[in-house]
Amino acid sequence: MSLADIKSRIAEAEARAGRAPGSVRLIAVSKVQSEARVEAVLEQGHKSFGENRVQEAEGKWPAFAKRYDDLDLHLIGPLQSNKTRAAMELFGTIQTVDRPKIAKTIARIAQETGSCPDLFIQVDIGDEDQKSGIAVKDTDGFVQQCRDLDLPLLGLMCIPPVDDDPAPHFRRLAELAERNGLDRLSMGMSGDFEVAIAEGATDVRVGSAIFGPRDYG
Ligand SMILES: *Cc1c(COP(=O)(O)O)cnc(C)c1O
Repeated sequence: MSLADIKSRIAEAEARAGRAPGSVRLIAVSKVQSEARVEAVLEQGHKSFGENRVQEAEGKWPAFAKRYDDLDLHLIGPLQSNKTRAAMELFGTIQTVDRPKIAKTIARIAQETGSCPDLFIQVDIGDEDQKSGIAVKDTDGFVQQCRDLDLPLLGLMCIPPVDDDPAPHFRRLAELAERNGLDRLSMGMSGDFEVAIAEGATDVRVGSAIFGPRDYG
């Protein structure tokens, strides 16, 4: 697989779903990948990337940002309170807002600095005990809470349970977004992004299918 292959598969999935060409944003998930692999994708003009860990991203992206303009960086991994400020400086989008405490911290820092990344709420769509994300039953209330805090909330994000058919989970996330008046849906990874696009994804997060397998060494 390559960036070009994934882009053409996205274009085909958009067409099959009757979606406008280019309506789905491809976020290339670069966590754990070597700088050489990331650079190869940057050299092809790609701008949107996802990282799981603030600290790892801090070690990698400031240097790239000096050489590549208009990068669009997304935090897609769990956000700890003590990393919130650093995350807000580095990322243009934080997709993993998942609890009132972190929403309040973001609002406080945004007020102080006068700027805030775009935000998505991560939903624990499979109601898995161990998984990050706000519980499905608490999502409507949490959306309202984020709005009351004046946060720039764009959409919802989820990671379905690994062993489940993802389609019903994607559909459920789309329903939650719709009834809360949210436009963006971040769902779908290497194994299921076409399914996600059929269910309305506006942002797909694809790592290994672009970069190759992650080597955790
Ligand atoms: C790692 C990761 C991805 C990408 O996974 P692939 O299967 O390599 O495409 C997408 N989303 C999140 C939240 C991830 O942690």
